[in-house]
Amino acid sequence: MTSRISKTIEPFALVHINLVTGDERGTLLPDMMILVGAHGRIETVAPSADVPVPNEYHVLDGTGKYVMPGLINAHTHLFSQGRPLNPKMATPKGQRITAAIVHSPVGKPYVAATAKNSVRTLLESGVTTIRTLGDIAYEAVALRDDIAAGEEVGPHILASGPLLAIPDGHGAPLIALEGEAPQDMRANTRRNIANGVNAVKIAATGGVTDSQVLGEAGAPQMTVEQMRAICDEAHDAGILVAAHAQSAEGVRRALAAGVDTIEHGSRLDDALIESFKHNPNALRGYSALIPTISAGFPLHAFGRDVTGITEIQAENSRTVVDGMLAGARAAHEAGVLVGVGTDTAMTFVTQYNTWRELALLVKYAGFTPAEAVRAATRTNARILNVSGITGSLDEGKYADMMVLDSNPLDDLSTLAHPKLVVAGGHPVWHPAPKRFDDIDRLLDEAMRREE
Ligand SMILES: [Zn+2]
Repeated sequence: MTSRISKTIEPFALVHINLVTGDERGTLLPDMMILVGAHGRIETVAPSADVPVPNEYHVLDGTGKYVMPGLINAHTHLFSQGRPLNPKMATPKGQRITAAIVHSPVGKPYVAATAKNSVRTLLESGVTTIRTLGDIAYEAVALRDDIAAGEEVGPHILASGPLLAIPDGHGAPLIALEGEAPQDMRANTRRNIANGVNAVKIAATGGVTDSQVLGEAGAPQMTVEQMRAICDEAHDAGILVAAHAQSAEGVRRALAAGVDTIEHGSRLDDALIESFKHNPNALRGYSALIPTISAGFPLHAFGRDVTGITEIQAENSRTVVDGMLAGARAAHEAGVLVGVGTDTAMTFVTQYNTWRELALLVKYAGFTPAEAVRAATRTNARILNVSGITGSLDEGKYADMMVLDSNPLDDLSTLAHPKLVVAGGHPVWHPAPKRFDDIDRLLDEAMRREE
């Protein structure tokens, strides 16, 4: 059956459901009902027996079903579907050629269509809020506005536009604005803000997939001063700043500059843990970690014959992935806020596998399934500053939720097949994201093999 998305919202009642609240204890409330109003917000959450369903509401009988808040993915890119990136394209020259194409009049509609496709896939997989962290241009901003205006149905979007990097730094030039002096960093940040972004991303260190020399991934690419200039501009506009940082020194500098979320991360000593918990330069006085194990796991679990990365990239990935896993574990143990992001569009990181990050946090970072569900819902909402509108099934928030056949706390893989997704009150009937069976087979096998 093909999926069907409803562009209009008709008030409905989901009755006799098991409600997965998404708290850290894994609280499950049996025989509950949720009323969703025509404005797409949750009006009532109560035991089914307590509240009569108003006449004009459609009634959906959820007997035997489990309903939980929609997933939030705090680290996405929309420019690809997650097939392995061609290593030739990841070279500076390859990136320059690709960048020229996607910024041309021919390329722009392609970029917009790809982004729309990605967002649709995310939605059908139960993701009702995303943050993009590195776009080609402002395609995610445009999509966000179309969705907010009701012209499209999709997740809430926090859109970064291009990330901010040094010349030839990580992500440049394909998905980055390049600058060197602190005043360039300010100008690039202001350019993004003028184009409507509501997230800002810094490349604080080199990365794996575009590394050309040993040790490049994680090598610091910006000073505290450069990053401070970006944080000041963004924070003045009330916007949180994320930094790609894959070494302890990169993390240290980013936190010192006032970065609000560290993406990927590294091994963390006590001083770094403390800087996350109390960060006077961050917008809210603390910073959070988004480990993105989903992006590291394939590079770690598969051979180069499968991933297509170079020998140097494979070597770089070993150090980075080991550090990322150790950092995620240490942060969770120490009570640092750890959120869920997957780095979609990277090699083998599809737009529909957000749920796998929850399983990976359980496997590698010491999370219980309940803690992983909380991280992808309530904690992510808090980290991204959207807990006023989403992240839990509470009255007054948007009706962002997924309906499941079984209890996700017993088996997280049920999250891969939601029966119904609701985003801002819009039902997505028979969600069926386009999957890549070969990628899923490889990931399933690797998850089992590593046990
Ligand atoms: Zn990324």
